[in-house]
Amino acid sequence: IKWTEGRGWHDAQLTPYAPLSIDPANMTLHYAQEIFEGLKAYRRPDGSISLFRPEANAERFQISARRLAMPELPVETFVAACDALVRQDAEWVPPHGGEESLYLRPFMIAAEVGLGVRPANEYLFIVIASPAGAYFPGGVKPVSVWLSDNYVRAVPGGMGFAKTGGNYAASLLAQAEAAEKGCDQVVWLDALEHRWVEEMGGMNLYFVYGNKIVTPELTGSLLAGITRASLLQVARDLGYEPEEGRISTDQWRRDTENGTLTEVFACGTAAVITPVGAVKSAGGEWTQGDGQPGEVTLRLRRALLDIQTGAAEDTHGWTHRVV
Ligand code: PMP
Repeated sequence: IKWTEGRGWHDAQLTPYAPLSIDPANMTLHYAQEIFEGLKAYRRPDGSISLFRPEANAERFQISARRLAMPELPVETFVAACDALVRQDAEWVPPHGGEESLYLRPFMIAAEVGLGVRPANEYLFIVIASPAGAYFPGGVKPVSVWLSDNYVRAVPGGMGFAKTGGNYAASLLAQAEAAEKGCDQVVWLDALEHRWVEEMGGMNLYFVYGNKIVTPELTGSLLAGITRASLLQVARDLGYEPEEGRISTDQWRRDTENGTLTEVFACGTAAVITPVGAVKSAGGEWTQGDGQPGEVTLRLRRALLDIQTGAAEDTHGWTHRVV
């Protein structure tokens, strides 16, 4: 779908997958006006196909667009575009029963040609799809994390709450550093004090204190995950007391060592939930619990995944039937 000043959104087309032809002076290539989303289509037990909370992705896409000075795409248009692609590619949605899905990647780029630094006057909204296997084919496996002290992902007033490519470009070196330290993932801390836990690379975090479950509050420099928001609700449905709060790295370590912080997990569209098994930082390292996936972590994962795949009843109206 195209957007131009004056005409707004127009010319929706469903076309075979093909390379884009881009002018070398396309403004996206120089000034990074780009935003994206990620969501999955799952096959339900009755063979129908549904998307999980696509309106939430559409709304976050609008929030990202505003931050990047791009035009907002109406929620209905975003969802209709996803629906059209899923219908076209229905045969690529794997059968019910596993955790496989058809992953959708909606994105928007500037389409104007020019080297002036200002918002473009033309944009392109596109959705592509790709089959996605199970994130943990051999069973849920905990990840090890590196608490990044050299790099920050986002600063107050920056773009941390937007899903824009620049945030991911900024994360690559930190992710490489985490790998050098022998860790699977980087964990971001706040930019000012380097002590408040924000999120993991590509996932939000949850801290399990027995019945109380805490996730870092939305400070503006982390992404408001749709899985994170859904888990606040699912955890309450299961009788836990979820809340948003602040967790410092000192508290993370102290509460793990004194046994009150029993489990830590990360959540996002890709893995749904992944347990954190080990933590390393410049100040030391510790094992999370016994290093194995915790009971609460696995219970919440099952509960949310069952809603997403249609194995359990969706009492919140989150699943959007496409076919
Ligand atoms: N944080 C970041 C930086 C992410 O890229 C993602 C994945 N979109 C998330 C958190 C989790 O968000 P969601 O639950 O909407 O996938």
